[in-house]
Amino acid sequence: MKIVAVLYPGGPSAKDTPELLGCAENALGLREMVEARGHELVALTDPGAGLDAHLADANVVVATPFWPAYITKERIEKAPNLQLLLTAGVGSDHFDLAAAAEHNVTVAEITGSNVVSVAEHVVMQMLALVRNYILAYNEVIGGGWDIGKIASRSHDLEDKTIGILGMGRIGQRVAARLKPFDVHTYYFDSRRLTTAEEQVLGARYSGFNALVSSADVLSINMPLTPATQELFNRELLYSMKKGAYLVNTARGRIVETDALVEVMEAGHLAGYAGDVWYPQPAPAEHPWRKMPNHAMTPHVSGTTLEAQKRYADGVRDCLINFFDGRPIDRDYIIVEGGRVTSPSYSYAYET
Ligand code: NAD
Repeated sequence: MKIVAVLYPGGPSAKDTPELLGCAENALGLREMVEARGHELVALTDPGAGLDAHLADANVVVATPFWPAYITKERIEKAPNLQLLLTAGVGSDHFDLAAAAEHNVTVAEITGSNVVSVAEHVVMQMLALVRNYILAYNEVIGGGWDIGKIASRSHDLEDKTIGILGMGRIGQRVAARLKPFDVHTYYFDSRRLTTAEEQVLGARYSGFNALVSSADVLSINMPLTPATQELFNRELLYSMKKGAYLVNTARGRIVETDALVEVMEAGHLAGYAGDVWYPQPAPAEHPWRKMPNHAMTPHVSGTTLEAQKRYADGVRDCLINFFDGRPIDRDYIIVEGGRVTSPSYSYAYET
């Protein structure tokens, strides 16, 4: 079997930090296990021509959301031996799921592996925006002490209305972490939680439009699917409360690129943060880099060293089961037997 893993370049950190498992140099710590079983592992950083050169005889492609290899229908058709597409992380939109189903390729991801890491990042970025941390930090670096400039856009999180779109593993962890801040949390999801779950999380269900228009701080935590792609267009962004904040750690394509720039430049939103872009890596001239009042990072929220260990372990488990002809953990399966089966994605692909 030939396993092709497309991973981010670790650079000089790769050698000094063996825990940096997700980079191409350290290849998710898989090499020994794969080779001991008589298989071939190719770990590369080039998601373009470098990957194309291996598609003809690849049995498995491993990719990550942080440094994505976009596996389109055309690419799947160029890989006649492809049986398994594996995401080292959570969120498999970089694979064409409908095409994978059509060609009977299984898609799996390491469900839950980095949800705590992302939830912590969401809370950090909410606070960074609401408290005006970036401007305050830049004041320090710039040698200034302009309290008025910083404080005139700085608020408490307490008593604010928080909206969570997509109350899955990450959304629930965001709600749980925000509880001690004494906020008012509402959520929308295509599947409503039970009353008991809502009580534990301190979150109330809301209609979609009501949530978007009433939240002071809105967090997007649903997958990128045909139903959510560019959901946040100009109209929806302008339907948000003036002066609200938007945090998107789900996927960049859920928000329309140019519409967001327009809304931020018009000052309709007070701040935008998150770590997801389209495409990735974001080109140097990506307009979100320079728009006003943002607190974005590159796509790093779900790839802390702890998260890398968890998703590397998950990929190892999947491959061992695959080599030994055993089923992959059900929780990890997104596409199987010619169907998108994951409950988080499936309804968006129902025909
Ligand atoms: P999850 O599957 O546990 O939860 C997703 C939730 O979204 C589910 O409850 C589902 O019902 C809901 N949903 C799906 N489509 C919806 C729609 N159209 N409208 C309303 N709700 C909808 O997934 P998760 O682990 O919480 O992750 C959520 C997403 O976050 C992932 O799909 C991925 O895109 C992104 N993510 C990003 C990072 C990162 O590093 N930035 C890491 C992990 C996950």
